[in-house]
Amino acid sequence: MALPTAHAAVAVGLTRKRSIRVLLFLAFLSVLPDFDFLAVLLRWQNPQFDLHRSWSHSLFFSATLTLLWYWIRPQIRILKEVSPGLFFSALVSHAILDMLCTSNAADHGVAILWPFLDTRYGWPVLVPLYLKFASSPFSITGALKFTSLELLLAGPLFLFAGMMRASFYHIINRFKTLSTAEREAPELEL
Ligand SMILES: [Zn+2]
Repeated sequence: MALPTAHAAVAVGLTRKRSIRVLLFLAFLSVLPDFDFLAVLLRWQNPQFDLHRSWSHSLFFSATLTLLWYWIRPQIRILKEVSPGLFFSALVSHAILDMLCTSNAADHGVAILWPFLDTRYGWPVLVPLYLKFASSPFSITGALKFTSLELLLAGPLFLFAGMMRASFYHIINRFKTLSTAEREAPELEL
């Protein structure tokens, strides 16, 4: 279980922009999927389907919101600062971090492929840290420990997200260079 601090650290690490407005917006996107708690409280959710980490944590949900974003973005000047790719990445980063903090993929995993598959996925690489230092946030000392651990994790998560972003753009640029070279190669032979 990750709290907003960890989610926001990842989302903010996905961009090199340092506009406070953009960073706050990305931090908001990074916690948006957890608003499924509202649906749970208001009983909008199908009781047959496990309540938390379901539809709002799926790629489908992120892609749908991104399409909406893509559509409204040209109408509002401020929104142009966040590209659809960055919007999608910030949303999806939530589900991925949740999967890394999932202690039991069967019971508390992320339905990332909903609505195509209801299977819950989890890859609990961060769980040992939480179990050792902050097993539950549901008490005052537990919440303090949990928050302290997340603040400590925020730095490495921020750097890791930045590395992922840099690697992604390195690969994209490499492909661009290769495809340009391929296009130019026949001309050179001629
Ligand atoms: Zn979540």
